[in-house]
Amino acid sequence: MNKIAFIGAGNMNRAIIAGLVNNDVEPSNITVSNPSAPKREALANEYGINQTSSNSQAAEHADIVVLGVKPHLITTVCQEIAEVIEIEHKCFISVAAGTTMTQIQAALGENKSVIRAMPNTPSQLGLGVTGAFASEQVTDEQRVAADRLMKATGIVKWLAQESDIDHIIAVSGSGPAYFFLFMEAMASEAERLGFTSAEARTLVQQTALGAAQMVVENDIAIGQLRENVTSKGGTTQAALNAFTEGGLPELVSGAMQAAIARAKEMA
Ligand code: NAP
Repeated sequence: MNKIAFIGAGNMNRAIIAGLVNNDVEPSNITVSNPSAPKREALANEYGINQTSSNSQAAEHADIVVLGVKPHLITTVCQEIAEVIEIEHKCFISVAAGTTMTQIQAALGENKSVIRAMPNTPSQLGLGVTGAFASEQVTDEQRVAADRLMKATGIVKWLAQESDIDHIIAVSGSGPAYFFLFMEAMASEAERLGFTSAEARTLVQQTALGAAQMVVENDIAIGQLRENVTSKGGTTQAALNAFTEGGLPELVSGAMQAAIARAKEMA
């Protein structure tokens, strides 16, 4: 059984740890490190995992080290670990946006096994999407173990090149917020139509959930699903015409390109 160290007791690592323990990974194989005690202790107590304030101590006996700190701390944390313990056969998974493979490998020392992973927020619910790119040093065995770990929070898409990380950010990484914006706009209009705020939220969330579930359960093109619910000359057709005339498809494309451009700037 692989031993896993989580560096940082924040939101992302918490989501992965929850997924692992809920998927029957033995808590004694998991260690979390975080310099300050409150979040670390809360996480360790909730899931029965090991804890320490020392990153290198957490990583020492781990096969996989998940780097779940803010991007500006990733290289510092890597250097700190690499200076203190032997890391030759360990696999490092960084979930940080904007810290490149080259930067991480430079901080760890040459030829280390590193995976850049880009999860999204629904990972907290086990409904996440994680895009992952592995350095050439990652062995088949490490890849299988990392795949299992990331699948604890949803689905995993392995990427052929590092630049695809920017593309997955534009689709699934930032994607939940696109749907939130759309739902927010619908709920605002529902309130203007006279529904209470609570009613508007319930109507919109159930509509979004139902629509997503229809996409999941029907193995047909999404465009076909849309056509199936759109009677010629009907109300849905009138609304969809307004979206198209307002340039919604072009707007979505422009927004996703903006996310990619920003990801490149941050790297
Ligand atoms: P977070 O909740 O702020 O967690 C970061 C944790 O790191 C905190 O518990 C912090 O502790 C701890 N920390 C600070 N300095 C440390 C150190 N030197 N050594 C070990 N731990 C340290 O942030 P997050 O949202 O989980 O994000 C973590 C990473 O995941 C980021 O790089 C982010 O880009 C990436 N990510 C997050 C999401 C997401 O949905 N949240 C999605 C994709 C990628 P203190 O609070 O005590 O300082």
